[in-house]
Amino acid sequence: MKVTRREFFKLTGLAALTAAVVGCDWDEDPILSQPLTDAKEVTTICPYCSCGCGAICYVANGKLVSVSGDPDHPINEGALCSKGASLLNLNTVYNFRTHNAEINPNRLTKVLYRAPYSKVWEEKNWRWAMDKIAKRVKETRDASFEAQADGVTVNRTMAIAHLGSAALDNEENYLLAKLMRSLGIVNLDHHARL
Ligand code: SF4
Repeated sequence: MKVTRREFFKLTGLAALTAAVVGCDWDEDPILSQPLTDAKEVTTICPYCSCGCGAICYVANGKLVSVSGDPDHPINEGALCSKGASLLNLNTVYNFRTHNAEINPNRLTKVLYRAPYSKVWEEKNWRWAMDKIAKRVKETRDASFEAQADGVTVNRTMAIAHLGSAALDNEENYLLAKLMRSLGIVNLDHHARL
């Protein structure tokens, strides 16, 4: 039987999941007992480092049940490092008390805001957050913009910095860098140095 690279990874993923289910008594678990072969595949990019490996999320009944490397992705061709191999744990964790897999209770799914000098986090919506960010960027840029420095035209602000993310792809990083440069922001960095 001829098995494609994609089918090979799907089958080995199913075998690994079965072993995990059998070994950990997860056979009754509502999340991880879903059959992988029936799951819908959704491709994504690993958010952890600058390699940008491709991954497949397996979704069954609206729930994420497994994540594996994407064999069709040109960077990793199906492989994931140990960190990438734990991608499922961003969403699903094992509860040692109940011996069940459950949705990671520490995963943030809403905007949280802590006002200056406050100890309390408040829940906000994205519209509120985007408006707040835009207002603060404008105020800070207006107050700190330098057209000249030491007789040289610089058109910059040194009061704002931008930190990128490995969850972004090349095109998104290109557009973000262009946006930041157009605002005169020169302090750009990235935790994965893309
Ligand atoms: S953390 Fe690992 S799997 Fe994720 S992009 Fe980097 S090398 Fe790839």
